Amino acid sequence: NRLVASGLHAEDSDLETSLRPRRLEQYIGQDKVKETLAIFIRAAQARAESLDHVLLYGPPGLGKTTLANIIAHEMGVNIRVTSGPAIERQGDLAAILTNLGQGDVLFIDEIHRLSRQVEEVLYPAMEDFALDIMIGKGPGARSVRLNLPSFTLVGATTRAGLLTSPLRDRFGVISRLDFYTTDELMQIILRTAQILRVAADEQGALAIASRSRGTPRVANRLLKRVRDYSQVRSDGMINGVLADEALQFLEIDDLGLDEVDRKLLKAVIEKFGGGPVGLDTLAASTGEEAGTIEDVLEPFLLQLGLLARTPRGRVVTQRAYSHLGIQPVSMEGT
Ligand code: ADP
Repeated sequence: NRLVASGLHAEDSDLETSLRPRRLEQYIGQDKVKETLAIFIRAAQARAESLDHVLLYGPPGLGKTTLANIIAHEMGVNIRVTSGPAIERQGDLAAILTNLGQGDVLFIDEIHRLSRQVEEVLYPAMEDFALDIMIGKGPGARSVRLNLPSFTLVGATTRAGLLTSPLRDRFGVISRLDFYTTDELMQIILRTAQILRVAADEQGALAIASRSRGTPRVANRLLKRVRDYSQVRSDGMINGVLADEALQFLEIDDLGLDEVDRKLLKAVIEKFGGGPVGLDTLAASTGEEAGTIEDVLEPFLLQLGLLARTPRGRVVTQRAYSHLGIQPVSMEGT
């Protein structure tokens, strides 16, 4: 379990539930997404209708689940939370859909992982709030249509492009979540510190924020670890000096990279002369899965400009060399 991984750790879940802002106005950052949602929510409420289906996409830990909960709260309805891999058969989805109340939010995380068959049940449900079920087998079989309450599907995925187009087309609102700025992360950290009753000053929050990879989940997790460090080695107070010391101890560098990130960058440099190297080749040589590199490791390195994608593969940038303190090999005669 990497400290800076943006995916959910088992140890995070209780804390995360208690840290989730409940109202749109308490949700820090993502102004464009908030503005879009506020308009649609207000319009739906004015028409006394359920909110249009919403697709949220972006890297893990940026607040998609939180937003789904906020949508339900703002609309004054219940939320049912599930995920693509958890819905194995058509019957599983049918059971969930028939248990929804009028206007409820159904949140499906990792919605790109629904099977084709399950997706087919979702189409009429999203479009007409209807469920088509087959009764009987063979020549006597017939299809019956059941009406469902109108509901709002909130789907979350890491990349919108992972969805099939018939599914993507059925969302009325499609919003992308971006990495947070250091300033926004500072606000999130100070808010979390208050909830957890941790004494942290602005410099302490800044030191953590700047190593949190643009991701609130990472920021909250680092804050917790820095607090533990401070309790044992100091007086529990988190200031800039203490936070720097704790993060150094945790082997998180100035940019928020850990050993796994540095290993990946070094592999491109040392084994492939800085690239370009194809994704599959890089995966084979580092022992990471291609999907993990693409979805988990790479986005933040690309965002920082340490790695770049070219038509011929991944290349490390000048910034990566200087960050790692490695001298690029000069290519004489080229
Ligand atoms: P995702 O579903 O995108 O993986 P989550 O919604 O589970 O991310 O968010 C991860 C954690 O980060 C939660 O504990 C949540 O409280 C916190 N968080 C996310 N976005 C924000 C935000 N805009 N303001 C405050 N806290 C946030």
